[in-house]
Amino acid sequence: MSDDKKLIDDSPIPDTPVLPNQLAGDAVIQFRCHKDIDCFNACCKNIDIMLTPYDILRLKKRLGITSTEFLRQYTEPFEFGRGSVGGVKYKPKEGTNECQFVTEEGCSVYEDRPTACRYYPVGLLSTRRQDENFDRASYALVQEDHCHGHFEDRKLTIDEYREEQGLEEYDEHGRAWRQLILKVKSAGPAIGNMSKTSLKFFFMACYDMDRFREFVKSAGFATTYDIDQATMDEMLADDMALLHFGDRMIRQIMYGEETIALKGDALDKHLERRGDRESVSHENVERPSMAAYEMPVDGEDEKKNK
Ligand code: SF4
Ligand code: SF4
Repeated sequence: MSDDKKLIDDSPIPDTPVLPNQLAGDAVIQFRCHKDIDCFNACCKNIDIMLTPYDILRLKKRLGITSTEFLRQYTEPFEFGRGSVGGVKYKPKEGTNECQFVTEEGCSVYEDRPTACRYYPVGLLSTRRQDENFDRASYALVQEDHCHGHFEDRKLTIDEYREEQGLEEYDEHGRAWRQLILKVKSAGPAIGNMSKTSLKFFFMACYDMDRFREFVKSAGFATTYDIDQATMDEMLADDMALLHFGDRMIRQIMYGEETIALKGDALDKHLERRGDRESVSHENVERPSMAAYEMPVDGEDEKKNK
């Protein structure tokens, strides 16, 4: 780490040992990674990589498979907290801790590598103060013994490194999801224990876009939500439009942030519930049937939630 490092003055996590490692975008780091370095691929042989919804869209498109197939073959689920919403991590090669995409020549999906791989050895810290409704980004430098890139003769700011790694696009498309995760974490017990159905809905609407598209096309959805044809056509054709709609649906169902119009009967029932919102937990919110949806993760989540 360079002496030029700049700590952010206004840390969102005061009085914590995390502070000395919390860096602003103009902090200077010393780092370079290249094919001839003696640790080439070492970081890809001992992975613990969380994927964002946008990472999954890029990778499934690259591989020419559905999100469901991608999740099954390349990922494993985890929970952000006990009984809380799920996340997705890379599943390593059987019997190893190696990434399934690492080859002798390097990363076989390099142009579409996930956010965490682009950031390494920088870590993105998204935090949110209790009195604010937006998240703040700061950074940390991860220094692991196996990574010799820290001894290379190159200094650059974290912002320059982010630009070099194409992270602006990844951060932009991952922002809504990160904010949602922060919201879930900060809500804590206030949101109560989420039902398996809510957790499955969250998982599908964040990570399994091809299943979510089928859900949006279903008769149950059509009788509940009032969506104009142009919006529907866009969602059916464009994964990113669908991802944004999924974010709105999660916020509406789990947090009552109402941005999607309901139809006829569904609206009447909804207004009835609003009149009695104090006593209505999010478990009781009616929505198109999710009963048939199974998370494509080898049933691991089912075992964990029992
Ligand atoms: S996706 Fe590529 S860069 Fe990321 S761990 Fe796998 S091989 Fe390494
Ligand atoms: S261990 Fe560090 S320097 Fe070596 S290949 Fe990985 S990121 Fe690059």
